[in-house]
Amino acid sequence: MPEPSYAETVAAVEAARCVAVVGHVRPDADAIGSVSATVQALRQLGKQAVGLIGQPQPFAANLLTIPGAEEVRLAHRLPEVDLIITVDCGSLDRVGALATEIAARAQDTVVIDHHSSNPGFGRVNLIDRYAESTTTILGDLFEHLGVRLDRPIAHALYAGLLTDTGSFRWGRPQMHTFAARLMETGLDVRTIATDLFDSGSVTDLRMMGRALSGVRIEEAGTHRAAVIIADHELIQDGSLPAVESLVDFLRSLEGTDLGALFKESLPGIWHVSLRSNEMDVSKVAVTLGGGGHIPAAGYTARGTAAEVLAELLEELRAS
Ligand code: AMP
Ligand code: MN
Ligand code: MN
Repeated sequence: MPEPSYAETVAAVEAARCVAVVGHVRPDADAIGSVSATVQALRQLGKQAVGLIGQPQPFAANLLTIPGAEEVRLAHRLPEVDLIITVDCGSLDRVGALATEIAARAQDTVVIDHHSSNPGFGRVNLIDRYAESTTTILGDLFEHLGVRLDRPIAHALYAGLLTDTGSFRWGRPQMHTFAARLMETGLDVRTIATDLFDSGSVTDLRMMGRALSGVRIEEAGTHRAAVIIADHELIQDGSLPAVESLVDFLRSLEGTDLGALFKESLPGIWHVSLRSNEMDVSKVAVTLGGGGHIPAAGYTARGTAAEVLAELLEELRAS
């Protein structure tokens, strides 16, 4: 992977007048934080900018606490722009409904990301696999661009940093330096964390209880996986953040070396989240058509619960 090029990215941004900033489908706080922060930074530089997610479904409501998130549009077409910036998208298909248009306009596309599996699908690719979050890269980019770090921008950047480091459980020492810089704008980090992680409902807690009580251990070759199958009926009762949070219980369960959460978002369509402190789950996810990072990766699967589980176990046996 080549060195991330800030100079090329700065040149592309400076030449642009009107920019579409695109985050990944089923966005998380790093995606929405990155889109929101970038749109605000571009406007500060006097550009027109719009944030887009290429899906019709609204995203998790707790992400709307990120400043600027309420302006992010759900879209299946690009507006008229002279530059496209994708953020936190590890591969082209992660831009969802906008993939065909962005593929056709690779020459006008800047890719800003931290996924090690990113092939670099833009003309300019600012990819740093060592960055904790895409918002970490944006923090550096904004310095190169002379963007003033105001509180709303800092909030959006912090949201991505906080969630992609598992609340500062992993990352480089400089993640704390970056967090300090952001906090110095006056961020209320307690409220940000509560908004993103801790605010729940009784309905969510009951859904989680049912999901967690179904946890099982599956052996596959040298691996032992903690598995939760969250079928469509079960997750319909819970909010998106509550469903997404289930995987955190599986990261390092005693006697296992990975966790797998199967989320049936539509009947027969499963979003699978893999987590491990001991093995490279991005390899497994890539083989199954997805992507991600060494400790956290995901893919999409189709079939019955038994089929999608068997597919994963077979892949684990081979790895
Ligand atoms: P998640 O388990 O959805 O929180 O995702 C963990 C990591 O894997 C994130 O960095 C995602 O970008 C990546 N990932 C998840 N699902 C997919 C997918 N279907 N295709 C590519 N990457 C994915
Ligand atoms: Mn993400
Ligand atoms: Mn990310």
